[in-house]
Amino acid sequence: MSTETPLDLKKTVNLPKTNFAQKANLSLSEPARLQKWNELNLYRLICQSRAGREKFILHDGPPYANADIHLGTAMNKILKDFIVRSRTMMGFDAPYVPGYDCHGLPIEQHVERALEKKGKKKSDLSVETFRRICREHAENALKSQTRDFKRLGILGEWDNPYLTMSNHYEAETARMFARFVERGYVYKGARPVYWCIKDQTALAEAEVEYHQHTSPSVYVKFPLLSDPALIDPALAGRSVFVLIWTTTPWTLPANLGIAVHPDFEYAAFEHGDEVYIVANELVEVVAAKCGLGPTPNVIARFPGTKLDRLEAGHPWIDRPSLLMVGDHVTLGGEADAETELDVSEAQKKSADSKAGTGAVHTAPGHGHDDFVIGKRYGLEIYCPVDNAGKFTPDVAHFTGLNVFAANDQIVDFMRERGVLLFSEKYEHRYPHCWRCKNPVIFRATPQWFIAMDQVHGELVEKDEDGRDRTNFTQNETDAAPPLRDAALAQIERVNWIPAWGVDRMRNMFKGRPDWCVSRQRVWGVSIPVFYCAKCTEAVADPAVINHVADIFERESGDAWYTHDASELLPPGYVCKGCSATEWTKETDILDVWFDSGVSSIAVLENRQELRWPADVYIEGGDQFRGWFNSSLMVGIAAHDRAPYDTVITHGWTLDAQGRAMHKSAGNAIEPDKVIKQSGAETIRLWCASSNYFDDMRGSDEILQRVTDAYRKLRNTARFALGNLHEFDPGRDSVSEVEMEEIDRWALAELDRVLAKVARAYEAYEFHNVYHALYNFSTVTLSARYFDIIKDRLYTFAPRNKARRSAQTALLRIADALARTLAPILVFTADEIWENLPAREVQSVHIAEFPKAGAQSHDDLFATWTLLFEIRDEVLRALEEARVAKQIGSSLEAKVTISAFRETLSLLRKYEKDLRYIFIVSQVEVVEGSQSITVSRAEGAKCERCWNYSTRVGESEAYPTVCERCVAALTEIETTD
Ligand SMILES: [Zn+2]
Ligand SMILES: [Zn+2]
Ligand SMILES: [Zn+2]
Repeated sequence: MSTETPLDLKKTVNLPKTNFAQKANLSLSEPARLQKWNELNLYRLICQSRAGREKFILHDGPPYANADIHLGTAMNKILKDFIVRSRTMMGFDAPYVPGYDCHGLPIEQHVERALEKKGKKKSDLSVETFRRICREHAENALKSQTRDFKRLGILGEWDNPYLTMSNHYEAETARMFARFVERGYVYKGARPVYWCIKDQTALAEAEVEYHQHTSPSVYVKFPLLSDPALIDPALAGRSVFVLIWTTTPWTLPANLGIAVHPDFEYAAFEHGDEVYIVANELVEVVAAKCGLGPTPNVIARFPGTKLDRLEAGHPWIDRPSLLMVGDHVTLGGEADAETELDVSEAQKKSADSKAGTGAVHTAPGHGHDDFVIGKRYGLEIYCPVDNAGKFTPDVAHFTGLNVFAANDQIVDFMRERGVLLFSEKYEHRYPHCWRCKNPVIFRATPQWFIAMDQVHGELVEKDEDGRDRTNFTQNETDAAPPLRDAALAQIERVNWIPAWGVDRMRNMFKGRPDWCVSRQRVWGVSIPVFYCAKCTEAVADPAVINHVADIFERESGDAWYTHDASELLPPGYVCKGCSATEWTKETDILDVWFDSGVSSIAVLENRQELRWPADVYIEGGDQFRGWFNSSLMVGIAAHDRAPYDTVITHGWTLDAQGRAMHKSAGNAIEPDKVIKQSGAETIRLWCASSNYFDDMRGSDEILQRVTDAYRKLRNTARFALGNLHEFDPGRDSVSEVEMEEIDRWALAELDRVLAKVARAYEAYEFHNVYHALYNFSTVTLSARYFDIIKDRLYTFAPRNKARRSAQTALLRIADALARTLAPILVFTADEIWENLPAREVQSVHIAEFPKAGAQSHDDLFATWTLLFEIRDEVLRALEEARVAKQIGSSLEAKVTISAFRETLSLLRKYEKDLRYIFIVSQVEVVEGSQSITVSRAEGAKCERCWNYSTRVGESEAYPTVCERCVAALTEIETTD
C-alpha cells in the first residue's frame, strides 16, 4: 500500500455491521415472519425433526369458543407455548394439539339474545336449526381465536385442532358416558343440585361463583309434638319449641326435619310460658338476639342424641318435622353451607357466620347435607319449586311466587302467626350463576348423576377403619372402585405445581357431592338414553349407547334430534321390562364439563402423534373444580388412572393494584392493542418476566418496563451479531486453549447461565429463565465483557487471533442466546438465528438447547471475580475524576494502582490486560498500600483508536496513530 494517498483511518476500524436492526419494528416484522413459518410449514418440520424421540405431551385445556381472547387467555396459551417449545428444544417430540370447548350454555344464551334482537324466539326454531346456529357461532369464535393465538406466536396443529363439537368428539363423549354406565357409576335420581332459575338448568360446581348477597336471616320456633318429658323430666307438661335459624326462608315450606349434633350439649330455657331448645353454648347469644331476656333461665341440659327421632311440628303447615342427629351440624351458623368445595371460599364463609342455634332447619329437596341426612332418616326428597323457581300449587299461600320474591312475604306471614322470633338483613357469600350472575337455588329434580361413593347403585359405606362395609369386592373382573376413593388415591401420585395444588384437589374431592351430568339444554351431546313408552323403564345400556355413538360419529350429535328413537336403537330392540317397542328419547344433554373432561380420551388416545396419559396440564386455579376435576374422573372411569402426571396452576392477570381487569373499568390490557403498538413479543416477555405461579400484574407502566428489557436483550444480541459480520466459524474459530483468558471467562459465565436456564426450563420456572438471561445480557455481557472487548474487536487487524478469539466467544454467546430465548421471544430468537454467520438448521425452533460445558471453571471464576472487584473500584475512581472534570472519556486517564502481596502479584500477572479491563489508556501497578490514583494519560491521542500513547508519531507511514495501531495497520497491509 502506498503512503502517498492519505489513508482513511476510519475505514480501517472494524465497525459492527449487521442486518439485525436496532429498532425491532415488531408490529411489522412479526406478521412477515409468521408468513414465512407458514410457507415453511415450520410446525411439520419440527415434528419431523423429532420423529422417534421420546414424547412429551402437554394436553391443551380447551378455551371456550365464545368471546374474543383477553390477556388471561393469551397468557394461558403463551405459557403452554413456552412449555411445548422448551421441551422440544430439550429434544423431546412434543406435539401440541390445541382444542376448543364448543358446547354449552354461554353459546346458547348468545344465540338466544341474537334471535331476540331479530324479534325471534328459540321456540320458533327447530332444535336442529337452533343447534346449527350455535355451531356456526362457535365456528366463527374459534376461527377468530385461532387467528389471535397464531398472531401471538403460538405454534401447534392449528389446521387440525380438536373441537368438542366435531362428530368424532361427540361420539367419544357418548362412548365415555357408556363407559361410566358400564362401570356402574351412573344413576338417575332426584337430589338437590345448583339450579339457575333464569336459565332454567342445573349447574355444575364449576358453574357457580360466590358473591355477596343479602338474605333475610330468621329465627323460627318449631313446636315440639313429642312428649317433652322424654327429653328431661323437668320439661314435663311444658310448651316446648325448637329454635332454628335460616337465611333461606323460602325453603321453610319444604321443611321436613331439624338436625342437631349428637355430641353437642343442648339447653332448654324459659321465656314466659314457653321453653326454647338451642345448643347450650348459644343460649345467651340466641336469647340476646331474639330479645328473650338477658339471663335466660335454663331448666334442662341434655345431649343432642336425646332429641333423635322426636317430632316437632312445622310452624304453619300441618305436618311433622322430624328431629335428627347429624355430624354436619355446627355452632357457627350456616351449617348447610350449600356444599362449597373451594377451600379459600370456605374460609371466607366461616369468617362471616356468627349466627345459628345449633338446630338446623332441614329441607331434603333444597340442600346437600339436608339431602344426605334426609335420605338416612327416610324423608321424602321434597321440592315444591318448579323450573322457573316458583312455588308449585303444593305450597298454600305462596303458590306461583318466585322464591326470592317470596322470602319477605314468608317472613311477614310468620311474624303474623307468631312463630318468628327475630329477623334481620344478613350479608353473606352466596352462590350465583356464572353466566347470568343471578343467585342460584338448590333444588332437587330428576337428574343423571355420576356417583362418588356408589358402584352399581350400592353405597360403599366405610366403617371407622376405612374398610368397605358392603359386600362389594375389589377382585371382581371389572370391579370399579368408588370414584372418590380412586380419585383421592390418584391425586397423591400426581405432581402438583405449585405444591399446594394437592391439598386443594384433595379437599375438592373429599367434599364434592355426586356429579350431576344432565343439563336441560340443547347445545351439547345428548344423554343417549331411551325410555319405554309403555312402562317408562329407562334404557342406559352401554351397547345401545355405543350404537348411538357410532351414528354420532357418522352424522354428528344432531342425529339425536333428526332421527326417531327407533332409528337410533339397534334394530328390533325390545323393552326388557314389558317387551314393548315404542320408545321416547331423553331430552337432557351432558354437562359441558363432561365434554371437556373426555378430551384426554377423545384426543390423546385417538391421535397417532399423541399418547395417553399426558405429561402435563396447565390451567388457572378455577380448573380445580372444572377441567382438572372432570378429567380426573374420566381418566379413572376409562383406565383407573389420572390422565396427567403433572398439573400446573397459573395465577390470574390483574392490574398494577391487584384488581381484576375489566374493559369497563378501563384497566384492561388488550392483547390486540399491545400487539399493534409493540408486538406480540412484549406480551410473551411479560409472561416470562412475571412469576405465573402467583397472580400476574399488568399495566401500561409494567409493559413499558418489559419493552425496555426487550430493547436491552435485543441490543445485546445486536452487538454480538454486528461483530461477527465477516467471521467464518469454519475458517476463523480459535480453539478454547488458544483463546484469550477473558474470552474463556465469558464462555464460562455462559456455561453457568446455561445450566441455570436448563434447570429453570425443566421446572417450568420461566421467570427464572428470564432473570438469568436478562442479568447475563445486561450485567455480564453489556456492562462488562462487551465493554472490555470493544477495543480489541474494533482496532485490531480483522484476522488477528486475539480478535478472532473474541469473535469465537461472541458466536457461541449469540448462538446460545438465540436458542435459550427461542421458547419465549419466538420472533426475535429466529431473527438472531438468521443473522448468525452459520446455522445448523434453518430455524432456531428446530434446533435444540445448547449444552453447558462439563468442565469446571472454578479457578477462572476465582481470578476474575477478584479482577472485577478491582475494576469496580477503578470505575468509581474514574467517575469521581470525571465529575471533577479531571478527565472526559476514560481513555483520557492513566490509572496507578498500588497493592501488596497476592493482589499485587495478581495485578502484575494481568498488568498488560488491565488497560483493556479498565478501558483506560495506561495502567501502572506499583507496590504499596492499596490505592487507586487517576491522572491524565500520558502522550497524545491516537487518531485511530482514541487511546493515549507517548509513542504517537513514531511511525512515518502513520504519523497520527499509536504503536498498537501501527502494528494493526501493518498487519492489515501484509495480510490483505
Ligand atoms: Zn343463570
Ligand atoms: Zn317397557
Ligand atoms: Zn491507536
